[in-house]
Amino acid sequence: MLTKVIEQSRIDHLSKWIERAEKVVVVSHVAPDGDAIGSSLGLAHFLESQDKTVNVIVPNAFPDFLRWMSGAKDVLRYDKYKEFADKLINEADVIFCLDFNALKRIEDMAGVVAASPARKAMIDHHPYPEDFCRITISHPEVSSTSELVFRLICRLGYFEDITKEGAECIYTGMMTDTGGFTYNSNDREIYFIIGELLSKGIDKDEIYRRVYHTYSEDRLRLMGYALYSKMHVFPEFHSALIALTQEEQDRFHYVKGDTEGFVNIPLSIKNVCFSVFLREDKEKGMIKISLRSVGDFPCNQVASEFFNGGGHLNASGGEFYGSMREAIDEFKKALVRYQGLLVNKK
Ligand code: 5GP
Ligand code: MN
Repeated sequence: MLTKVIEQSRIDHLSKWIERAEKVVVVSHVAPDGDAIGSSLGLAHFLESQDKTVNVIVPNAFPDFLRWMSGAKDVLRYDKYKEFADKLINEADVIFCLDFNALKRIEDMAGVVAASPARKAMIDHHPYPEDFCRITISHPEVSSTSELVFRLICRLGYFEDITKEGAECIYTGMMTDTGGFTYNSNDREIYFIIGELLSKGIDKDEIYRRVYHTYSEDRLRLMGYALYSKMHVFPEFHSALIALTQEEQDRFHYVKGDTEGFVNIPLSIKNVCFSVFLREDKEKGMIKISLRSVGDFPCNQVASEFFNGGGHLNASGGEFYGSMREAIDEFKKALVRYQGLLVNKK
């Protein structure tokens, strides 16, 4: 049995909305990750089983290693099909906002989502939700939005309607937001849920391979280069930094998703508890930042204070508008500012 995490009043409220709705739009955050796509498609599969017309819309591209999921090919990219997406968003009865809690996380879609007359419901697990949805289901203590989607469907009374395809999507989001159940993954109910998903016929070992073992040779060589030549360890701060310029990425024929997970690797060094990865994106004219920590070191605070970002305590991100050198200087300032908290947590 699962604990009733989501308040009953919100389940009841949402249940009425779903019952009445015909057209539903599910939106998720920019640079969608496994949990964004997994939770969105997991919910979409369920809503389709209830005969709703469902469209999943995201601001831009997601990595190829998520493309195998059922429904992924129909996910609408706002940067490609703005007009059509605007129409769907404006005509929706209900809009679900999944895996984000601040309108700026959907970038160019923010205006049209905010202005749409549709009823809006947020399902998310990031701290400090903004108030832009009539129903806000926000649980930072839950390790993935996909898990929340599973809990929601069960509480609505429709566990039976979860298909194998829907279960695969939900499992993928749960797996990717916990690094394959290696962090934020001590809640025993996660494993109860996995048992339930397995009962739908999913092959969790194959899902792991599809997500984590389908990289290109170029990506592996870029990883080798990043670790051998570009990783700097700051032992006195229990921290590590990897920074890759656009030129370096080009040298290894970088494609979207190739640096996914790089930020986690330095945390496997004894005594390193804070890891930052900087990736220059010339096209967007910015440096994309990923931050990870072990223990109670607040990555999200560093992300918001130094890099216009936010996220979870142990996994967050941001953007820096300036040169790589300036971004690295900013990182070094953050180390000094947070020195008191940068102690060994292992
Ligand atoms: P990643 O390092 O995988 O890109 O992002 C890790 C987490 O940080 C995401 O799940 C998201 O919660 C958060 N995040 C990433 N980029 C940004 C950003 O630019 N702004 C904010 N507020 N959060 C971000
Ligand atoms: Mn998530």
